[in-house]
Amino acid sequence: MKLYFTCPKKNELFASEHYSLTDGFSVVEGEQRKLEGMVQLHESCPHCGELHLFPVDKVMCSYGKKE
Ligand SMILES: [Zn+2]
Repeated sequence: MKLYFTCPKKNELFASEHYSLTDGFSVVEGEQRKLEGMVQLHESCPHCGELHLFPVDKVMCSYGKKE
């Protein structure tokens, strides 16, 4: 599944299928169930070339545009 990320350096959106959740992510049970953890990218950012790490809540599963 492709996820969408925003480059923290250039503030540009990009999509990637090459990522994994780091160890220690957890589902927080509360009023709203949510995931906590970090998503590690395995390919370099197309905008700045770095391998970013994102908190799960900053990652989008979909984007308002069709590909
Ligand atoms: Zn970047």
